[in-house]
Amino acid sequence: MNKVPFNTSWHASEITDVLEQIESEPEGLTIEEAEKRLSRYGKNKLRPPKKQSPVIRFLLQFHNVLIYVLLAAGIITALLSHWVDAGVIFGVIIVNALIGFIQEGKAEKALDAIRSILSQQAFVLRDGKKVMIPADGVVPGDIVFLQSGDKVPADIRLIKTKELRIDEAALTGESMPVDKTVVPVIETAVIGDRKCMAFSATFVTYGQGTGVVVSTGDDTEIGRINMMLSNVKPLTTRLLRQIAEFGYLLTMAIGAMAIFTFVFGIMVRQYKFGEMFLAAVGMAVAAIPEGLPAIITITLAIGVKGMATRNAIIRRLPAVETLGSVTVICSDKTGTLTRNEMTVQTIATVSHLFDVSGVGYEPHGEFSLDGKNITLTEHPTLRELAQAALLCNDAELHAVENQWQMHGDPTEGALVSMGIKAGMEHANLKEMYPRTDVIPFESEHRFMATLHHDHSGHGFIYVKGAPEKVLMMCDKQRSSGVNEPINIKYWNNHIEEIAGRGQRVLAIASMPTDVNHRTLQFSDVNGGLSILGFIGIIDPPRTEAIKAVQLCKSAGIRVKMITGDHISTARSIGAKIGIGDGKTAISGTELDVMDDNQFRLAVQKADIFARVSPEHKLKLVQSLQANGEVVAMTGDGVNDAPALKRADVGIAMGIKGTDVAKESAEMVLTDDNFASITNAVEQGRTVYSNIKKSITFILPTNGGEAGIIIAAVLTGRLLPITPVQILWVNMITAVTLALSLAFEPPEAKIMQQSPRNPKEPILSPFLIWRILFVSAIMVMGTFGLFLWDRLHNVSIEYARTVSVNTLVMFEIFYLLNTRFLRTSVFTRKGFTGNRYIYIAIGAVIIAQLFFTYTPFMQHLFGVKGLKPVEWIYITIITFSVFVLVEIEKLILQKRERRKKKIPEQLLK
Ligand code: ATP
Repeated sequence: MNKVPFNTSWHASEITDVLEQIESEPEGLTIEEAEKRLSRYGKNKLRPPKKQSPVIRFLLQFHNVLIYVLLAAGIITALLSHWVDAGVIFGVIIVNALIGFIQEGKAEKALDAIRSILSQQAFVLRDGKKVMIPADGVVPGDIVFLQSGDKVPADIRLIKTKELRIDEAALTGESMPVDKTVVPVIETAVIGDRKCMAFSATFVTYGQGTGVVVSTGDDTEIGRINMMLSNVKPLTTRLLRQIAEFGYLLTMAIGAMAIFTFVFGIMVRQYKFGEMFLAAVGMAVAAIPEGLPAIITITLAIGVKGMATRNAIIRRLPAVETLGSVTVICSDKTGTLTRNEMTVQTIATVSHLFDVSGVGYEPHGEFSLDGKNITLTEHPTLRELAQAALLCNDAELHAVENQWQMHGDPTEGALVSMGIKAGMEHANLKEMYPRTDVIPFESEHRFMATLHHDHSGHGFIYVKGAPEKVLMMCDKQRSSGVNEPINIKYWNNHIEEIAGRGQRVLAIASMPTDVNHRTLQFSDVNGGLSILGFIGIIDPPRTEAIKAVQLCKSAGIRVKMITGDHISTARSIGAKIGIGDGKTAISGTELDVMDDNQFRLAVQKADIFARVSPEHKLKLVQSLQANGEVVAMTGDGVNDAPALKRADVGIAMGIKGTDVAKESAEMVLTDDNFASITNAVEQGRTVYSNIKKSITFILPTNGGEAGIIIAAVLTGRLLPITPVQILWVNMITAVTLALSLAFEPPEAKIMQQSPRNPKEPILSPFLIWRILFVSAIMVMGTFGLFLWDRLHNVSIEYARTVSVNTLVMFEIFYLLNTRFLRTSVFTRKGFTGNRYIYIAIGAVIIAQLFFTYTPFMQHLFGVKGLKPVEWIYITIITFSVFVLVEIEKLILQKRERRKKKIPEQLLK
């Protein structure tokens, strides 16, 4: 592949030289040329980090204490010349590693696929038009547009900047954003001083810029120092670590028990050394839950995939677990709780309050006053206001096949629609009053200003923004074409009135300026403007958000609305959605004067926070966390990044979110919808509960098997089940029955329980009880049947075959119990809802028939074909576990209900 000539001095060259050298021009490349360059230079992607080779990944499967124990057991068994046993132990170890290897690979692939959904976009000029393309299609010579929140897609020599500031920490480690200009710097300047360059993978924190791409992919600075900034994170979570620690403890305990059994057998029961050694190995093998780590990983991966199909992309795996314990969700209003489909409904001028009809962005509707339609010619101030709203605006409205499509910011789209309803021609207006300069809208300053000059040289400044902000810039008000002193009280009353209807309020102001005034500064709009009027815009709540908020309430999760909008608008929308008490709301200005204690009290009390800035968001998260809450926080802007990082689960908006917000978040919503957060919480809870189910299912099997061997040694009997048979049972049930639990759908009541305490250990007292209870049933049933068979003089092989099948059948019935941990399975959902359960059971039955009746398996595992009647005994005995566990659930539920009732009775 041809690469761009290695030029290290783009930063020292004049822009005309750069354009010449890179064979481009300010109008950008043609689509044809861009395609040619793409095939010549390759995609604009960094080489992916070297992944571990498959061999290493396979070998790593053996790096686990539990497997070490098995390996040691296999080696010693081989040294004792028990070749078949040793062979089966090694066979199982290899099969287990293979399964782990394949499943891990699948999980990684699923996560990779999900990550690629979040690919970056870039705004470039192609054929002279501004188009959005995937960032990996950017080529050297492309003209790229940058704005605050963007991740720079390639190395760029800047041509134009407007207060452009870039955070280059990814490249230089410097955390303060750098001010960018277009002036070349000296050739020897270090990266951090190359102010006329924007480097790939850095973030625009403020302003806007345009530049020409000089290098892409691995040729960029970031590519050259080969620092992969990709979000590939190792597949580990707190839960997996907990499990690993648990495995370690378990190994120790198993080791101690094996030694005890060994010594006891030799000293007290006078077993032979070799025989007793095999029994001790059998015990160790029995107690080790080999399949558990792989099952947990796969359950997490299934959860992540499930969330992706419901519009929530997990960027960091631990978030899956944390989601299940979230106690507070702090959500933006606009677009997340509301539809972000704005329509102007009210206009206030100095003397009138007009209504505007129409739905959505479609520019069909009428202006009316007290119920009577009016025309704009009768109301010159209204006309001026509509004109200003159209000019101080970057949105566009087009009719495509009879459908109106809006491009740009929804608030501005609503103004364009209103302007067209007023009979104005947007394109004409822009030609008559071309824009000379702009101060773009940013959430921090909450206004936008534009400078225009008509063709006779007259200059105008238009400002639109949050009313409090704009009123501060005005000392006059416009009335029938003339300026008069401002009546602040009148306007303040109107803010309350319009916002109280749940509408977003924008104020519009204007001021004439000089013909020579060609650039717009903040100081230009500090005062002297004349207010034209207010515009009230509705943004209806999302119906699904109303339901989702209710669901959160039943799930013990508080929802807080954090918005940049006016307090009255926020309160009114909150009441419609069901957030807050309809009265309590706190504004950013009130938060500013609170000390830490007051802040902590305030966040506990109120659910609506209005006119907040990103710094408030960070403090809100910190205070809620200090109050012991587990916080999920949404965000979209550049400055939301610290709050997103600090939250337990940072959630970025996939559509309107900036690259910075997405990179800082644990989760990205592809539809920006609050309801998707609730779905993700439900999935998070389900994943955790399914992992718990797998553990509760697997461990009693191991406990039962180990118990049977201990019971045999203590009573001085032959082992009812040999080590290789135990391995068979463990393997066959782990890859079928236990795995099917990973596909369990959410339990009906999962969103009616309070959030899980994140500090709660995975093995709760209840789980320990359940594991012991079921282990005991399995030991009694299997050992009992074994003793019964031996009493009736059947061969040891036959009796052992009965034991193996009894254990497996016990597991099949117990699997049905485990689908619901605490509640009865005697419901319709208890027997349907997860077909994998039945597929797994079918597979296990076929495997057991194969195991029991084929000569090859009979020889390998020392088993015998069973008489048909034996299956009847086995089924009757093993069905008992199903009945007993269901009775246990009933008793425990009754006790719980009684416990809850006691305080109420006491109160009476
Ligand atoms: P939320 O945090 O709920 O999503 P938001 O992000 O919509 O709210 P901002 O976009 O920060 O809040 O808007 C705050 C205020 O700024 C609005 O109430 C409005 O008065 C004003 N505003 C919003 N968009 C524009 C714009 N494009 N031009 C001028 N002013 C705007």
